[in-house]
Amino acid sequence: MLNIVIFGAPGSGKGTQSERIVEKYGINHISTGDVLRAEIKNGTELGKTAKGYIDQGQLIPDELMIDILASVFDSFKDSKGVIFDGFPRTIAQAEALKKMLAERGQDVSIMLDLEVPEEELMVRLIKRGKDSGRADDNEETIKKRLHVYHSQTAPLIDWYKNEKKYQHINGLGTMEGIFAEICEAVDKL
Ligand code: ATP
Ligand code: MG
Repeated sequence: MLNIVIFGAPGSGKGTQSERIVEKYGINHISTGDVLRAEIKNGTELGKTAKGYIDQGQLIPDELMIDILASVFDSFKDSKGVIFDGFPRTIAQAEALKKMLAERGQDVSIMLDLEVPEEELMVRLIKRGKDSGRADDNEETIKKRLHVYHSQTAPLIDWYKNEKKYQHINGLGTMEGIFAEICEAVDKL
């Protein structure tokens, strides 16, 4: 199976590139952000809990995220692989993902790190907030999310380098150009 972790700061284009990857490689998509936003929309208990964290730009607790991830993963039948978008976001989540996949006789094939300069992230997220109305895409919350990214999520870069799964991708440029660089890396697997 082709198990891809798509990684990057908020606004780095994980969702956009994931859609293309799904289409080309015929794998399933897990976007933890989309899962949480759907729970909020449906007014579930989980959604209520998640909203408190998301509106503050904070991460949802690891134990909760890990359970959600495993249940979505196990809901896929006859899957050719999965793209993990927005997970892992902490070292504990990366370790849990490794364990969950190992228990199912699998592993992460590659981690794609979409690198985008901070000024560009700000511009993209503020624009997205205006277009989509996503409540966490306002300047104050974006700053908090970028801070959380640097302190809790960016350490995963070294973690995946150590696992020999790391692949840098230049996240600046046209959507096609970025996708071509991704395909080149994935096709080598
Ligand atoms: P991108 O724009 O690249 O898709 P993003 O950071 O803007 O990334 P999402 O991945 O949609 O957005 O996540 C939105 C919010 O959902 C996060 O700020 C966080 O509060 C919560 N969240 C999503 N995934 C996780 C996770 N793995 N662990 C903890 N919280 C998460
Ligand atoms: Mg997203």
